[in-house]
Amino acid sequence: MPATGTDQAPHGPYGPDPDALRRQDPQIADVLDGEARRQEDGLQLIAAENFTSPAVLAALGSRLANKYAEGYPGRRHHGGCEYADAAERLAVERACALFGADHANVQAHSGSSAVLAAYAALLRPGDTVLAMGLAHGGHLTHGSPANFSGRWFEFVPYGVDAESGLVDHHQVRALARRHRPKAIVCGSISYPRHIDYAEFRDIADEVGAALVVDAAHPIGLVAGGAAPNPVPYADVVCATTHKVLRGPRGGLLLCGDELAERIDRAVFPFTQGGAQMHTVAAKAVAFGEAATPAFRQYTHQVVANARLLAERLAALGFAVTTGGTDTHLITADPAPLGVDGRTARARLAAAGLVVDVCALPYGDGRGIRFGTAAVTTQGMGAAEMEQIARLFADALREDADSGAVRAEARALAGRFPPYGR
Ligand SMILES: *Cc1c(COP(=O)(O)O)cnc(C)c1O
Repeated sequence: MPATGTDQAPHGPYGPDPDALRRQDPQIADVLDGEARRQEDGLQLIAAENFTSPAVLAALGSRLANKYAEGYPGRRHHGGCEYADAAERLAVERACALFGADHANVQAHSGSSAVLAAYAALLRPGDTVLAMGLAHGGHLTHGSPANFSGRWFEFVPYGVDAESGLVDHHQVRALARRHRPKAIVCGSISYPRHIDYAEFRDIADEVGAALVVDAAHPIGLVAGGAAPNPVPYADVVCATTHKVLRGPRGGLLLCGDELAERIDRAVFPFTQGGAQMHTVAAKAVAFGEAATPAFRQYTHQVVANARLLAERLAALGFAVTTGGTDTHLITADPAPLGVDGRTARARLAAAGLVVDVCALPYGDGRGIRFGTAAVTTQGMGAAEMEQIARLFADALREDADSGAVRAEARALAGRFPPYGR
């Protein structure tokens, strides 16, 4: 069982009186109880979500939340930072050791903030950047017109091959030669396969571009040795500490010594103010967990579960993108079962299976995107993946008895309580 299998109260001795909130603000206490029940009642299959350990939640609920700590350890703009410094030093040391990086910045508030800081360190407004197009799996920060990235930089999109669904390296190289970008971004919110970082490095070197790897999704698998490490190839790796890595909601940047100073200044003071020190402490806890043999085993089980689930869904008629997965993440077009992505998400939600819709690179239909990080944390394995695949198919049938499917999904989830009983 993963580190979450305990019935310890989420705050432990480090946080506030667990009943204080209920006494003072029953309205919000009810909301939090409802959310806890929701998380336990169904199958949490959103690819970007996971269950953090009680230790991570304890750090998040700790009194470091009260502390202002602008700057970096040993050079703060506030007094009283000795414990904040210790927390951040541990987080940085652990991140560097975990990923084999010279330097880590653990202050980025989110994955998007980490990408913003990487651009701020490497680019000027108006520069050209090559990144995966949003319809093909790029993130908002990879050039969406609704995001700062699309407003401040000239993004050139690359895509995936229509037949295979795989990154089209010939197209990436041709676009790089034609547009001479200052940076190339690889990373995606929905690409289920390993990215060939050596190939991207080679293309970036040919045109003199920096390589930014936005590894928000796979970084947890990297920590457990279940996916290739982008650190040796990238100028900067951006990531989140939630998702498969199973830490607190937050961002992370990894780079070599030569960019360390620029990355740190790009986070603070350029794009952020005071760091969230409770989150930084929780990141340190998560990096500590991720360095254990149990986490290594977890990440390999996450991938094995996703592979099996993808295979079973393909056999049930789902058009699984790229025919399977190398990671925790699966995208599929449910059209062969007679439903589009939005209808599928709604029917699955009614049955207690929580997934996302996603863009499909070709055509104007929507697909569904989901992953195995959370259910694997709960302790589910092959038998449960078989059952989940069948629940998908049952829930999507037009004449589905969603009450019966819902009851089965709830019973399955109930056998694997994420925080014990
Ligand atoms: C999740 C994700 C992000 C953003 O993370 P937030 O914490 O939501 O800002 C950025 N890039 C990629 C590729 C992601 O998957």
